[in-house]
Amino acid sequence: MNFDYDLFVIGGGSGGVRAARVAAGETGAKVALAEEDRYGGTCVIRGCVPKKLMVFASEYATMVEDAQAYGWDIQPGGFNWGKFKVKLHAELDRLEAIYRNILKNNGVETFDARAKLVDAHTVELSDGTRKSAKHILIATGGHPVKPDIPGAELAITSNEIFHLDELPKTMLIVGGGYIASEFAGIMNGLGVKTTQFYRGAQILRGFDDEARGLVCEEMCQAGIDVHLGTNVLEMRKEGDQIWVKATNGDERLFDQVMFATGRAPNADDLGLEALGVERGRKGQIIVDDYSQTAVPSIYAIGDVTDRVNLTPVAIREGMAFVETVFKGNPTKPDHELIPTAIFTQPEMGTVGLSEEDAAEQEPIEVYATSFKPMQQSFAGRAQRVLMKLVVSKASRKVLGCHIVAPGAGEMIQLAGIAVKMGATKEDFDRTVAVHPTMSEELVTLKRPVRSA
Ligand code: NDP
Repeated sequence: MNFDYDLFVIGGGSGGVRAARVAAGETGAKVALAEEDRYGGTCVIRGCVPKKLMVFASEYATMVEDAQAYGWDIQPGGFNWGKFKVKLHAELDRLEAIYRNILKNNGVETFDARAKLVDAHTVELSDGTRKSAKHILIATGGHPVKPDIPGAELAITSNEIFHLDELPKTMLIVGGGYIASEFAGIMNGLGVKTTQFYRGAQILRGFDDEARGLVCEEMCQAGIDVHLGTNVLEMRKEGDQIWVKATNGDERLFDQVMFATGRAPNADDLGLEALGVERGRKGQIIVDDYSQTAVPSIYAIGDVTDRVNLTPVAIREGMAFVETVFKGNPTKPDHELIPTAIFTQPEMGTVGLSEEDAAEQEPIEVYATSFKPMQQSFAGRAQRVLMKLVVSKASRKVLGCHIVAPGAGEMIQLAGIAVKMGATKEDFDRTVAVHPTMSEELVTLKRPVRSA
């Protein structure tokens, strides 16, 4: 049977663009891609990239104070959101153009349109045209969800935060995951009086207890008003502000409220059910180890499959898909020991098992140290960092590495290589310290602080 394309990709985010360009550029496949919004997807347009730039912007406030402590005669001025926002969006435009060019230069035909599936080999674009393809790859990502409470429509999500006309004076952030905790730090750093409500006992559920405890403590020290065990019951407009009633009975007014209460896969209205593509409880597309759905010609990668919702993972899944389907080399994306960073202030970098999860699995030793880093301590800050290794008693392998420190994201990328290679505690010990640094503590941890 003759198809218009070898591959039709739905979704121009990190995963879809990578799969399309590698399939076209490296295997000569005839590839098309449809994107209804902006190229680059969540990561580039409304996620990781603008978020990280906002983290950078927000960190300058304390840098000026620290510079003064180091003898610099400089005075902090105000933060100009309008000026920053113009520059931020110009940068996103630049990156979107790069994404479009990557596709073009690799011979991928693009459609600025929404696409849905008509049958196992056919998609229909929003202008009604139909295209056939031997393989279809769904890489439509996800979107933020708000809880179903009265007044929820008054709140923004991470989609809107990059487009605020002006910075609010006061802001409530609801949630305790990556997005809520990162934006609490960003807004606080930009001078917004920031409150965070999290319904559970400690933010960043699932990560190492000691590490997330320190992050939360430092966030509070930095001036964020964190309320644990607290959720929003209802909201309503009151003048220019939003009145919020909390589960603990508190009633407060905020200029802005943001929900960062999780994300859901973009898998509705794609025509999946009629074709027999299975979906899970959260609406995610169910795929096998090779990202293949229940319909053999249809594959899915990235957040729409709700496996590990991180940009580099979607990219790996896209590469593995091309390897499997277009290079004749069946390849499963590897979801084991994924290093990750949470750009809270302070940052957290983590790879492997938390102390709690490791202790459930086998007998362990915990090596950890918490201290005031030189740079900040000199500037008179009380800020502490944490370097922690969770080690198997039996194999001596480092099962988990957890870092809370400025630059933890950069550090964990490198520690992640060692942990992925199966390094033992003694391998860490054999490595000479790089002095004076914070991360040298990872190779000089002499005695376990606990066994479990
Ligand atoms: P998460 O799923 O990480 O966190 C959602 C948070 O909202 C949790 O604290 C959850 O609480 C809470 N929550 C859920 N439902 C409700 C509700 N009805 N009322 C109150 N609170 C609620 O989602 P995020 O939106 O923070 O991030 C989505 C994903 O994006 C992450 O999982 C991550 O994979 C990715 N991401 C990665 C980043 C990075 O790598 N640095 C940065 C940003 C996002 P509970 O814990 O009790 O369930």
